Amino acid sequence: MMDHSLAGKIVLITGAANGIGLVTAQCLASAGARLMLSDIDEVSGWEAVSQFQKLGLDAWFTRCDVTDGASVQALVAATLARFERIDCAVNNAGIEHKHTRLADHDDDDFDRVIAVNLRGVYLCMKYELRVMLTQGAGVIVNTASVAGLGGAPALAGYAASKHGVMGLTRTAAVEYAAQGIRVNAVCPSFTNTDMVKRMVAAKPRLNESLANASPMKRMGEPDEVARAIAWLCSDESSYVNGQGLALDGGMTAW
Ligand code: NAD
Repeated sequence: MMDHSLAGKIVLITGAANGIGLVTAQCLASAGARLMLSDIDEVSGWEAVSQFQKLGLDAWFTRCDVTDGASVQALVAATLARFERIDCAVNNAGIEHKHTRLADHDDDDFDRVIAVNLRGVYLCMKYELRVMLTQGAGVIVNTASVAGLGGAPALAGYAASKHGVMGLTRTAAVEYAAQGIRVNAVCPSFTNTDMVKRMVAAKPRLNESLANASPMKRMGEPDEVARAIAWLCSDESSYVNGQGLALDGGMTAW
């Protein structure tokens, strides 16, 4: 049966050209959403739009580097120009850094991961919220991580960025609830995307420990994150606000 839970909703999604973002875009579109995809990877972004359009789905692409305020403002403006509103925003763009303990952390790596994962989400939320406030409604879903809920050995900069995303999520949820805006985050554990493949390529013995990190003894799949994001975007989650939903096969229950 066709899922109509997001019929006609306009959704803006960053980091949409690959991985969790791309699979989320597919999931949202199949639930009836009309999409503005965005990424720094223009080739894969336009390829995704062309695939969606072949299936009769409504999608467009705008390049945006989330670390750059002017680029984020231009993305929000382009979304309004094409679709006239933003019902939901999925702030998903993110990067990893080299596995290392804090005392050996590379300073440039730290700055880069904070710029993309934290400043990027901050800038996107800032300009999306301005639109949602004029509409009197909106839903934001940020892609945080289990590394935003607890410590993440060898990933200090990444964990700091994702804890920051949880701070933004919870604060905005409280600030804007009375204006009809809900703000939540998903907190996946290791999920089978290029991000994890790059981590394993750099450190092959990680492969086994990634699966064993979850009581379910496997990584998550991108569609398992995508379906949670779709639910958080939809009215099915109408009283869920300010939460970080762990998608971790039980890792945080240990
Ligand atoms: P991915 O590398 O497959 O995709 C990330 C996307 O973000 C890419 O398309 C990339 O081009 C884009 N991107 C990178 N920098 C950008 C920038 N400055 N501006 C705009 N776009 C940019 O990774 P993924 O696994 O799909 O990760 C998606 C999100 O999920 C990230 O926020 C990541 O931190 C989070 N996450 C991933 C995992 C995992 O194990 N894969 C676990 C928890 C959280």
